[in-house]
Amino acid sequence: MSPYEDTFRRVYGARPEGVWAAPGRVNLIGEHTDYNDGLALPVAIPQNTLVAARRRQDGRLRLHSAQGDGPVVDLDVDRLTPGTVTTWGAYPAGVVWALREAGLRPGGADLHIESAVPIGAGLSSSAALECAVAFAYNDLYGLGLGALDLALMAQRAENGFAGVPCGAMDQVASACCASGAALYLDFRTGVHQQVPFAPQARGLSLLVVDTRVKHDLGDGAYAALRAGCERAARLLGVPALRDLGPVDLPRTVSELPANLARLVRHVVTDNARVTAAVAHLRAGQPAALGPILSEGHASLRDDFRISCAESDLAVETALAHGALGARMTGGGFGGSVIVLAREHRTEAIGAAVTAAFRSAGYQVPHLFPVSPAAGARRIT
Ligand code: ADP
Ligand code: MG
Repeated sequence: MSPYEDTFRRVYGARPEGVWAAPGRVNLIGEHTDYNDGLALPVAIPQNTLVAARRRQDGRLRLHSAQGDGPVVDLDVDRLTPGTVTTWGAYPAGVVWALREAGLRPGGADLHIESAVPIGAGLSSSAALECAVAFAYNDLYGLGLGALDLALMAQRAENGFAGVPCGAMDQVASACCASGAALYLDFRTGVHQQVPFAPQARGLSLLVVDTRVKHDLGDGAYAALRAGCERAARLLGVPALRDLGPVDLPRTVSELPANLARLVRHVVTDNARVTAAVAHLRAGQPAALGPILSEGHASLRDDFRISCAESDLAVETALAHGALGARMTGGGFGGSVIVLAREHRTEAIGAAVTAAFRSAGYQVPHLFPVSPAAGARRIT
């Protein structure tokens, strides 16, 4: 029996009925586009959150996490209401709430959670947790939902129960990604397509630099950016920023206040970068993603203004040491940077980034290579 099944038995006094896994993600390009009906191109990383689970007949939902604070969280599934769970338990409990809000009637369960996804590092440990729980519940209670619907339940949990106003990208990536591929997402049409991406096969590597900083202005700033994008769309008379292309940019500069025009320019150019990146991958030219990543970073730094000194230093140092491209990934204000590099350059780049952080007096970053991995699934 695996260690986490063992822990389940120790905590709950019985064997789990199964174990489910859902990965974290890095987004190659297309940031803050999901809530603008736009495009994104994430890949799942090999680090997963595991959920060992067993149904209960008494309507209790009990939650235990190797990474969460405190003892078992014990809830009544009939009384799950937004605002009532204020700890990490809001993420898994929110999934059960969302399923019930959707008219499904799953009952209680004992859940034990263990995660190898770094938490709070911009790699979507929250979506991994939600998706693993959603997949477990789907199987245990025979709900019959597909991966995309489960991802939307997970997003609903994060928005409506955990109170985080995120778009759907993280959850769809965790639920729908496949090994050896990036996931092309169109948030207007719901199209999600696997685009082959195996950097190692081309002598490339994709390196994650977890800067280990999370600047506090995060949550309120996210909501403000989202509101800014929605306001810009209203002022320009379009349903969403997705409806604008590069040809519309001169008009946005003359019609909008400068702070909103910057937001629009980021969203419009990042959507275009996703389209270009997908074309390069389909043409078998993954190295051509490099400049696209770096342009995406500049856009987040200068137009969306959500980068920070640590992420900028990681990107600049990687590029100065021969990376093909680099950018912050995720919602911003810290978290992780991704670096695309030729395999033989990776070690020197990593050493240079670490040295630069040391001499700037920053925490030593965590560096690890990732390859595009599988999405959420049952593992036992
Ligand atoms: P990210 O998703 O980038 O890792 P978030 O701030 O969105 O960062 O989500 C992190 C939060 O998700 C944690 O503070 C915790 O509440 C919850 N969480 C994620 N993984 C776990 C886990 N394995 N155990 C308990 N809580 C977790
Ligand atoms: Mg998250």
